Amino acid sequence: MSLHFLLKAKARTLSVVQVLAMSDDDAFTLFREVRWGDGDEVVCPHCGMARRHYFRPARKIWRCAGCQEDFSVTSGTIFAFHKLPLRLYLAAVILFTNAVKGISALQVGRDLGVSHKTAYVLLHKIRESLLVGREESALQGEIHVDGAYVGGKVRPENKKEDRVDRRLAENQDPDKRCILVMRQAHTEAEVEAGNAGAKKTLTFIVKNENQADLGKLAPAYIAPGAVICADESDAYDRLPAKYAVRRVNHGKEYRADDGTTNNLAESYFSRFRRFHIGQIHKAAPKYLDNYANEMAYREDTRRWSNGDIFRDILGKCARALVSRDWCGYWQGNHRLGESLVV
Ligand SMILES: [Zn+2]
Repeated sequence: MSLHFLLKAKARTLSVVQVLAMSDDDAFTLFREVRWGDGDEVVCPHCGMARRHYFRPARKIWRCAGCQEDFSVTSGTIFAFHKLPLRLYLAAVILFTNAVKGISALQVGRDLGVSHKTAYVLLHKIRESLLVGREESALQGEIHVDGAYVGGKVRPENKKEDRVDRRLAENQDPDKRCILVMRQAHTEAEVEAGNAGAKKTLTFIVKNENQADLGKLAPAYIAPGAVICADESDAYDRLPAKYAVRRVNHGKEYRADDGTTNNLAESYFSRFRRFHIGQIHKAAPKYLDNYANEMAYREDTRRWSNGDIFRDILGKCARALVSRDWCGYWQGNHRLGESLVV
């Protein structure tokens, strides 16, 4: 039995101690480099001109040589209009990176000495950056697809005679949602090269597992010729003919006689449940897409070093634009509807 990846030294290339030891200048230099590379040129977020703009060291801002607007290292990014030192944002990112089963806002608040409100918004900005920066090219080869229900658990009444049939639609909580996951398996050659499990994961929020939604999502996100592995749910009965569909009946077995499993989807849900039950406890339907994608990202980067994940997340934060949902959240700016994918 080989050593678990996370126990290997190469899994940990950056620590919270190192990040917290950074000076404000270090943090500035790092964020600048992640955003614009290590050359002299920076890009004005107002007009897009890339060159050596006039830098004012005292205030750490640039004046654009083209449009004459001022901008800082975080202008136009998810961390725009930040009030805390940049160092603390980097600390939040390393805490987020290291928490392989996710992290709650209360914990980040305690670790960084900021309010729950601040930590909550900060974590959601990071999650939004991951979703905005998600790579959505079509999945290929063997794809494991499944849905799992989140939220809306109806607690049974104390007395048996007061209990209702929780299977009926009218007795279910309206906040119940389904996370639909699609996971591309590594090819045989990739497995021989030492890879295991899923390679790429996409998640979607739907009201329930059904043929109509699958009929729209599969062609949009799964390349023709792929082999789709699904369980016995009838939602997968009418997938387009351009796919081969293999089934495993979970009522009877976890692995069908022909070797078909749906285990990659199951392992995603295993991580998501631990996150949901153990860290966040509640996931409002409105933001379930962010939570679901966070766990997809963690699954797909599970064999990266934490230093690489940290830089990747920071890069996504730098490239995501000012958050529409989370900038000014506690001043009353909230996302209006939820993002059901279909
Ligand atoms: Zn400009």
